[in-house]
Amino acid sequence: MRKGVSLSHSRARSESSRYHAYGPRWLRRLWLGIMVVVLIAWVLLAWSDWQQTRAREITGLRTLAAAVAKGTQEMMGGTRVSLTLLGRQLDSDHSNLGPDAGKMLRAYLALQPDMAAVGIRMPSGQVLVSGGSRRFLTEFLSGLDDPANARRLGLNAVQRSALVRCLHSPGFCLGPPVRDLFAGNGQDAWMIPVFQPVQGARDRQTLLALLPLRDGRLPSWRGLPMPSWMSIFLLRDDGFLESRFPPPTRATYAVRQDGIAARYVFAHPERPSGVYYGLSTAVGQRRLGAVQRVTGYPLVAGVSIPRSVLWADWWDSFEAPTAGALALLLLSTFGYGYLRRLGREREGERQRAEQTLWEAKERAEVTLHSIGDAVITTDTQGRVTDMNVVAEALLGYARSEVLGTALEDVFHIVQEGTHTPVANPVRRVLEEGKVVGLANHTVLITKDGEERAIEDSAAPIRDRRGALLGVVLVFHDVTEKRRLTAELAHQATHDALTGLPNRTLFLDRLAHDRAQATRHERQLAVGILDLDGFKLVNDRFGHAAGDALLQEMAQRLQTKMRSGDTLARMGGDEFGLLLTDITQIDEVEHACARMLEALRTPFHLPGGEEVPLSASIGLTSYPLDDSSPADLLRHADLALYAAKAAGRDCFRWFDWPMDKRQEEAMEVRKMLENALDRGHLLLHYQPVVEIDNGPIGVEALLRLDHPERGLLSPAAFASALDAPRLARRIGCFVLASAFAQAQTWHRQGLPLRVSVNIGAHHLLDQRFLADLQAALDAHPDLPPSSVEIEITETAPLLDFAVAQDTLAACNRLGVRIALDDFGTGNASLTYLQKLPAQTIKIDQSFVRDIINDPKDYAIVTGVVASARLLGLEVIAEGVETTEHAVLLSHLRCHCLQGYAIARPMAPEAIPDWIIRYNPLVN
Ligand code: C2E
Ligand code: MG
Ligand code: MG
Repeated sequence: MRKGVSLSHSRARSESSRYHAYGPRWLRRLWLGIMVVVLIAWVLLAWSDWQQTRAREITGLRTLAAAVAKGTQEMMGGTRVSLTLLGRQLDSDHSNLGPDAGKMLRAYLALQPDMAAVGIRMPSGQVLVSGGSRRFLTEFLSGLDDPANARRLGLNAVQRSALVRCLHSPGFCLGPPVRDLFAGNGQDAWMIPVFQPVQGARDRQTLLALLPLRDGRLPSWRGLPMPSWMSIFLLRDDGFLESRFPPPTRATYAVRQDGIAARYVFAHPERPSGVYYGLSTAVGQRRLGAVQRVTGYPLVAGVSIPRSVLWADWWDSFEAPTAGALALLLLSTFGYGYLRRLGREREGERQRAEQTLWEAKERAEVTLHSIGDAVITTDTQGRVTDMNVVAEALLGYARSEVLGTALEDVFHIVQEGTHTPVANPVRRVLEEGKVVGLANHTVLITKDGEERAIEDSAAPIRDRRGALLGVVLVFHDVTEKRRLTAELAHQATHDALTGLPNRTLFLDRLAHDRAQATRHERQLAVGILDLDGFKLVNDRFGHAAGDALLQEMAQRLQTKMRSGDTLARMGGDEFGLLLTDITQIDEVEHACARMLEALRTPFHLPGGEEVPLSASIGLTSYPLDDSSPADLLRHADLALYAAKAAGRDCFRWFDWPMDKRQEEAMEVRKMLENALDRGHLLLHYQPVVEIDNGPIGVEALLRLDHPERGLLSPAAFASALDAPRLARRIGCFVLASAFAQAQTWHRQGLPLRVSVNIGAHHLLDQRFLADLQAALDAHPDLPPSSVEIEITETAPLLDFAVAQDTLAACNRLGVRIALDDFGTGNASLTYLQKLPAQTIKIDQSFVRDIINDPKDYAIVTGVVASARLLGLEVIAEGVETTEHAVLLSHLRCHCLQGYAIARPMAPEAIPDWIIRYNPLVN
């Protein structure tokens, strides 16, 4: 899957690279095409234009060269004719260059304004000269033959030989240019020497004229068009430059030329005219030129222009096309650049969009495969289009197996428990077009036939316009969750130890069964079963043993129950019973009897001990007792107390007086609590005397000063005295006020022992010792040995170990312990032996009857004897008559308490009573 994604991504990237660097290829080709076409067109045009320019220039040069040749020819012709005429004139004058010759020369020169000088040389060597350059011409004419003289005139050998050839030439001869060394101003005054031989009567003479080169120009060129870049020249056949305008800068007239023009002329002696192109040595630049031979003379006229002019000319005509081509190139380049940028931007946008799309797809795929839920997507036909790994694991099918198959073929769901098929949610989404949740308690049957509890929903997938594309089904395995939930629910309603329903579930069922009983007009029995003396088992054998016993007990009870009945553990050793569908009360009683019987078989503890056990059951039945579920339970509880009171190991039915007693007890508790709150409690004291020695102490007895009923003794509130919520409060009050009173008497010199009654719940309270200590600490003048705590058997029966420890701790504080009402409960003397008591108070019920009842007499005798053996003090309570006192003294019971001695009295009366005390028995 991931591989597929990355492949498509790289393909997208290579595609985009075609665009990335250059833009679209066709655009680039078009641009290059335009460039090439324009460039080729430009080159072709340029070439043709160049050819045209060159041809045009050549034509111009040829024309000009022809004109120069013609002008030169004419000028030469004129000069020859005029010199020939002058020679004849001179010859006709017979004088050997007499004075007329000079006149003639001057006259001639006057007619030749372009000539610098003219002279004649006689064969005798005589020379006659006229004109500006007279001196140079004289020297020239006379010394040309002489090489030394020639050197003096600055002529090189080649010059000289050319000049000498001219001097001896039989006809008109144009010599190479020479420099007038004698010209003023130090100027470079070059002259062309023109020779014309004259055949005289006797001999041959030579006429010589000097044609000055002004700025390299022959006089005849005066009218010619002369642009500054153009040069005109006259070249001799032998290579000497005759004239050149502008004058040569690199070469001189004094040497033969070997530049391109000269070479052309030498190379093509037969051609009357020609065109050349090459390096001109005269000025050292490349030039294009045309030459034309001067007819009749060994001269060539030439015109040339530098290459740059040719270029400039060409450029002049080709500037516009070039600019056009350039513009075209620029335009196409800009156009291409613009389109490329546009393309690149579009490409960038496309790539970004592609990237975003890819990322979104990637994200969706990664999400799909990383979520913990199983996901299946289908098309609109309900065929699987995709599924993630979680779905694969849950269904047991591989993705490849199911793609394209109908969802129902792989996704089988049924109702938990009943296994009835459940409508496929995807079909429902396809029909209804909205999100659909799976039905509760849906179970998926996997490929292997395993069952998996699942949960969740299906939702439609829509396109942008809202059209249905398919369905996404999301679900997850809740097998474990459902198991845990069920377990938690069971835990919340069941007891962990016995596995029985707990109080919550019991109340639930009670309400339910009560409603059912009404509907079916049957009776419902509600019972509470409580083990007798289970606490002792816990104390003696530990909690583990207690737990084991409870478990076994639960099992035994359950075997005695019918299905439909409920046995629940309400807490501790208390069990709830619901017996349904009762038609006869007997049925309930039989069931209860069976249960009690089942429990009577002794239990075997893991340690091997045998524990005999019994239980008491309180019962009530609906609708005879037409009470609410809560009251039914309370009534069963009252009946349980009745069963306990009736001696345990039995069951009792609730009756209405029970309820009344319960209400009364509550009222008493309220009254006692109010008295505590409002300070209506007080203590009276009843003296205890020793027959021989008189008063030894007093017992503090609680009184309630009722606002309406007057002073009440404990008989009016006895049931509330040891109520769990009141016992400690009362105890603390009694300790504080009795100790305060005793301390007062001690201070007054009346060292009376004070006995206080402590309820079982206060004694067993873990704060009791601290309470006692605090009371002692608050009364430092009262020695602890003057304090006695009276307890009944109740406390040790409730928790023997704690009672034993507490009483031992009291002893360690110095406080005495008295066992009150001795003989009324189940306590035996051996049991007594284990408690750290110093005093036994024989209950008044025995004392009262010792006179008439020999059994009581025997008991008292036994108790007194045993107590003596144990070293305990014995006090007889309820001594109402002197007779009793006498009898008791005979039984060697010396300590007495009772109306016969004194009634309980207010503390103020005690000192008086002691003073007036008369011993009963002597
Ligand atoms: P008890 O501790 O056995 O106290 C002796 C009871 O016998 C007292 O009754 C007393 O007045 C009564 N009495 C004494 N001599 C005679 C006699 O010759 N004939 C008859 N018929 N009765 C006699 P009282 O004061 O009504 O107390 C009743 C019970 O209330 C006490 O029995 C004790 O168990 C409890 N009680 C009294 N005061 C307190 C107290 O401060 N705290 C607690 N927790 N219980 C107390
Ligand atoms: Mg007492
Ligand atoms: Mg008593």
